[in-house]
Amino acid sequence: MMASVDTAALLDWIHRFRDVVTEKRDWLTELDSAIGDADHGANMARGMDAVVAKLDAGAPATADELLKTVGMTLVSSVGGASGPLYGTLFLRMGMSAGPVTELDATALAASLRAGLDGIVARGKAEAGDKTMFDAMAPAVDALDAAIAGGADLVAATEAAAQAAAAGRDATLPLVARKGRASYLGERSAGHLDPGSASTTLLLETLAQATADSSR
Ligand code: ADP
Ligand code: MG
Repeated sequence: MMASVDTAALLDWIHRFRDVVTEKRDWLTELDSAIGDADHGANMARGMDAVVAKLDAGAPATADELLKTVGMTLVSSVGGASGPLYGTLFLRMGMSAGPVTELDATALAASLRAGLDGIVARGKAEAGDKTMFDAMAPAVDALDAAIAGGADLVAATEAAAQAAAAGRDATLPLVARKGRASYLGERSAGHLDPGSASTTLLLETLAQATADSSR
């Protein structure tokens, strides 16, 4: 039974996310070419490459500094909506985490909740607007519910990843009300939202990193 994620596990999470957005860059770009400007895969891969380069040059020892470094690097290296949105997510996670070297389940959930609140503060998205919110919000809710129900961190982050994937899939029929895709109006329906797809990868890699560090 695993009780917390340490900074090594957070670092592993960041590396895994970089790897998967690189591996799935073309898919993310394809999703964005249907309802946006075909740059989401490139944006995420470039941003996470910059993050990993920065962390490889010297990773901070505490969760707050590590997460804030991720956020600031994304803001400064990614143009487009996703840079500031993902940047704010990580910056707020860091502020919530504080100068610690381990986050227990409650602290991790609070940190992700703060990140979600940051996305909303910046982008004003609501449920059903067909954005990354539609994957992130159900994931954070599922994480809270799993922890309240007594699940350990591995099971709780797995539940969050599954909720994110369900939220991503539920964006398919939606008409976009935020971001570039909203310019298409009704024609945005019938396509997955790219940001909800990358956010699901973020939650899936968190579950993987958590499971791995508990072994
Ligand atoms: P851009 O739209 O500037 O080209 P990206 O293609 O990298 O940037 O990212 C697009 C994604 O950003 C969308 O799929 C959506 O999930 C997310 N997004 C856009 N606007 C908002 C917003 N206001 N709130 C939350 N997420 C948003
Ligand atoms: Mg785009």
